[in-house]
Amino acid sequence: MNREVKCAYCGEKGKKIDMKVDEIQRQSGTTFKKNVHIACWDQYISNKQFLETEKKEREDLITLIAEIINIPINEVPSSFFPFIEQLRNGNEKIKGTKYKQGPTYAFIADVYEYCRQDIIDVRSYKSFDDVFGYLLYGLAIVKNNIYNVKRLHETQKIVAEKQDIIEQQIDIEHLEQEVEYKPAASKTSNDISDFLD
Ligand SMILES: [Zn+2]
Repeated sequence: MNREVKCAYCGEKGKKIDMKVDEIQRQSGTTFKKNVHIACWDQYISNKQFLETEKKEREDLITLIAEIINIPINEVPSSFFPFIEQLRNGNEKIKGTKYKQGPTYAFIADVYEYCRQDIIDVRSYKSFDDVFGYLLYGLAIVKNNIYNVKRLHETQKIVAEKQDIIEQQIDIEHLEQEVEYKPAASKTSNDISDFLD
């Protein structure tokens, strides 16, 4: 039987024979199947991996924020999440809603690390009605430092690249020295007759 099924990537219907099946495991342990056009498969997989990375980095970021703010992770109010997502998506709306055009969650986490002490210090000179206010204040500090961390990363990248070049040069020099100073192969090893004279 060749019934038509919907592709989980492009949304178009297709014959089952033209589809590959992705079996997905739920947290409960049960599985369900997604049909994907053979032609859509590679894009489907790379998109799936992208979304998994996004999810992981987002979780790591929320964990870090909770740690810096000093609250259990389950006490980060869900009303705060859209603010983080907005930063991730990018603020400039050129055509409709921008989608994941801003800094990555991993980069935002780096900025939080960079601002860690500043955010902690806020508690000593400012009081907040609730944790939400503190979270927004911390986020404002982070937003103000995005450019600084970007510049820092660029500098680190340049330094690392220079270091790589230096190390490569040293490697080449070592190699040249090894070639130069390589001792001549021993003559005695295979010829025992020398000792018998
Ligand atoms: Zn498709």
